[in-house]
Amino acid sequence: MRLSQFFLPVLKENPAEAQIASHRYMLRAGMIRQSSAGIYSWLPLGFRVLKKIEQIVREEQDAAGALEVLMPTIQPADLWRESGRYDDYGKEMLRITDRHGRDMLYGPTNEEQITEIFRAAARSYRDVPKLLYHIQWKFRDEVRPRFGIMRGREFLMKDAYSFDLDYESSRRAYNKMFVSYLRTFERMGLQAIPLRAATGPIGGDLSHEFVVLADTGESEVFCHRDLLEFRAPTDIDYDGDLQPIVDRWTSIYAAADEMHDPAECPVPDADLVKRRGIEVGHIFHFGSKYSKPMGATVTGPDGQETELQMGSYGIGVSRLVGGIIEASHDGDGIIWPDPVAPFHVGIVNLKAGDADCDAACEGLETQFANAGLEVLVDDTDERAGAKFATMDLIGLPWQIVVGPRGLKNGVVEVKRRRSGEKEETTLEAAVNKVV
Ligand code: ATP
Ligand code: MG
Ligand code: MG
Ligand code: MG
Repeated sequence: MRLSQFFLPVLKENPAEAQIASHRYMLRAGMIRQSSAGIYSWLPLGFRVLKKIEQIVREEQDAAGALEVLMPTIQPADLWRESGRYDDYGKEMLRITDRHGRDMLYGPTNEEQITEIFRAAARSYRDVPKLLYHIQWKFRDEVRPRFGIMRGREFLMKDAYSFDLDYESSRRAYNKMFVSYLRTFERMGLQAIPLRAATGPIGGDLSHEFVVLADTGESEVFCHRDLLEFRAPTDIDYDGDLQPIVDRWTSIYAAADEMHDPAECPVPDADLVKRRGIEVGHIFHFGSKYSKPMGATVTGPDGQETELQMGSYGIGVSRLVGGIIEASHDGDGIIWPDPVAPFHVGIVNLKAGDADCDAACEGLETQFANAGLEVLVDDTDERAGAKFATMDLIGLPWQIVVGPRGLKNGVVEVKRRRSGEKEETTLEAAVNKVV
């Protein structure tokens, strides 16, 4: 991709409304544009990152055996009257009336919708277990939308739902999601800590929040410091017994704010980490909370009608874009972890229009493309300083600077954004270093 053909509306100044790094850099790097409070458009650079995150989430859901569906954003109020949540949900729900006077709403979550789908189809115990998920926009009329897309009103969520015959089986679904979340966040270069959490308006008896440590986070985290050393498991057999993995992770103290009682906390103060964090995921087991009022039952092997055991499992896909930036930036801009970077390599052409420089950039671009890497070439006629500043701001993992002086000696400069390390190498060595 050529920068001259791309749409990258970079801001030189810090926008006054942005209080935290991720919001500031997302605006400055032209990733998003606010439409109204808490509602954003995603511009090409931001959209590329959003799609990469979404794809990692999708691959890990698929690996865990969840099936992708797509439910609508607009739901009928009657479904929520069945579960009793239409009145309970309060002002966070955006309520709409259609031209026939029917009450509708923009979905803040989909428990009712998916329960309706499943109850219409499932007849017997042979139809379970099932795990269904979708990645869809949600709307919650947050009292205080802030920090850009971190607390938006419209936001992209992955929400999965499990249907099982009994508690034991639904516990297996919960464990699948628990383990897949560890993998999902690690693949994005994040350390997300599972905390014991209260179940709140979703209800239920078992729940974990996945939180990324960041000083600007809105959640409080209390955990034993040993947990910070844990790494996500690899080579998971999702059909096998995942309980040992979940037990290992949950054997160490980690609690969200409302679950933490200093008087009851078993961790000595010296070992207790008290930090702030960003909630990037949340899983719930809630048994028959929706299946009972909504009549979602199947006949068991004994011929008895049985209410389905359910759970729901959310990931804040759009919030993760901000969460990753909070966890990975410096004073000059964003530092994308490779798996979610909008482009892998940025090539700075210091003298666009110069035949040698243009040819060298084109050659590099082709070789990277052949290796499956995405490249952004700055072929504009901005001055060098501005080009370097933009490259650092948008945070591509690798930068290659191509200039006439270097080319005379057959070299370019390769820079790793994360470490700032620079090296002069031949064109060939530059490719080998990055690929
Ligand atoms: P929060 O505590 O931040 O308000 P929540 O507990 O209300 O979040 P859940 O109902 O658990 O959110 O939704 C699942 C996930 O959706 C959250 O873990 C979070 O990552 C994401 N999410 C929730 N609200 C927002 C929002 N307003 N903007 C962006 N992402 C959100
Ligand atoms: Mg909330
Ligand atoms: Mg929460
Ligand atoms: Mg939550």
